[in-house]
Amino acid sequence: MNKKKIAVILVFAIVLSMFTGTNTFAASGNPESYRTPTTSVRQGAKGNDAYWLQAMLKTLGYTISVDGSFGPATLATVKKFQSDNGLSVDGSVGPATRGKLIEKYEALAEPTPTPNPQATMEAPGQAFKHNPDNLTIPSTSIRKGANGDGVLWVQEILYNLNYDIDVDASFGAGTLNMVRIFQMSNGLSVDGSVGPATREKLTERWNAAKKTGKSPAKIICIDPGHQKTPPSGYETVSPWGRATKLKNTSGATGVSTKIPEYITNLQIALKVRDTLVKNGYKVVMTRDNNDTHLSNQQRAAIANNAGADITISIHCDSADSSSAAGVDTFSRGSGDGSASCKSRSYRDNRYASELLAEVCNATGATKRSAVKSDNYTGINWNAGTCVILECGFTSNETEDKNLNNAAYQQKIANGVLNFVIKAF
Ligand SMILES: [Zn+2]
Repeated sequence: MNKKKIAVILVFAIVLSMFTGTNTFAASGNPESYRTPTTSVRQGAKGNDAYWLQAMLKTLGYTISVDGSFGPATLATVKKFQSDNGLSVDGSVGPATRGKLIEKYEALAEPTPTPNPQATMEAPGQAFKHNPDNLTIPSTSIRKGANGDGVLWVQEILYNLNYDIDVDASFGAGTLNMVRIFQMSNGLSVDGSVGPATREKLTERWNAAKKTGKSPAKIICIDPGHQKTPPSGYETVSPWGRATKLKNTSGATGVSTKIPEYITNLQIALKVRDTLVKNGYKVVMTRDNNDTHLSNQQRAAIANNAGADITISIHCDSADSSSAAGVDTFSRGSGDGSASCKSRSYRDNRYASELLAEVCNATGATKRSAVKSDNYTGINWNAGTCVILECGFTSNETEDKNLNNAAYQQKIANGVLNFVIKAF
């Protein structure tokens, strides 16, 4: 359908609705008749903020009654909206969810962009490789060392959820790490044992995945490093050890532009997102604004829960020497030393090397190295491949200016696209 036809139909629909009184923008259904909330809106909220939220959701096509009272039905709808939009599903309407509601609402009023046939195609979900429904759900707790159908049931579900796991009916180090990663990602206690709570959550996630089917498009998680205010406290660096690290840090600052890294990272990441989406990839962002408080584990959880095929974490580097320049990538090291960690390390390092080459090719920046490391929480807790891309040094005057230049940022995005196209 061309734009003119759409416009004619829209005008007709609006005029018709004026006569029939079914205009969704009439009376209390119009979010613009309420003030936009300035603080988080949670269950229990009443009045303006609840009205605004419900009117927004209704206008966006969700089934919800606009009664000005945030009860269980509104909570469920908020969670559905968060889940549909790759937000963290906490049922609370904070800055990220509010921003996404406004973005979606504003998009309704904008003219329809030229659709990319691949990206917007209503492709049905694909079949999953394994069918755990053919197996009996284990009735007792399953731990490391176990074998058989119960283990297979766990592995098949995690495999279908896009976790890096061997489906071999044997609960070894690889399965242990993936169970821990699943527990972390789903707010369960991380004990590596599949007891009733983990079993229930696996069932829930598998039932949800079956409904949508496997995504026909590759899912790329883009993680813009840092944020305005990092969360406080520590978290474990990996699923296999007890060492802890700060949940997140504030990042570097440009030596000449004085722009903090988190702002630069987000600008680059948004260009990467748009470039990938235009080319038919499904992109999940860990954050799309600077006002978040995400730990590195939480970032990994977002990728894991989205079933990402790869996560690319966008950063800028900083060094004491102002002459340090160029691009580095980081990917997983040998982890707990198990065969499973080693083979993942080998595979991910190849991705990291290819990403490094493509970004340097597109930008002309100096190619430094593709480093393997066990020190990154976001990598270690990722159920798939995670590569940190250090786009350049903001401690170097020339690179600082480049990294904060829109045209140069787009070159980085083009390099990432070239890598993704080759790799996936
Ligand atoms: Zn950084």
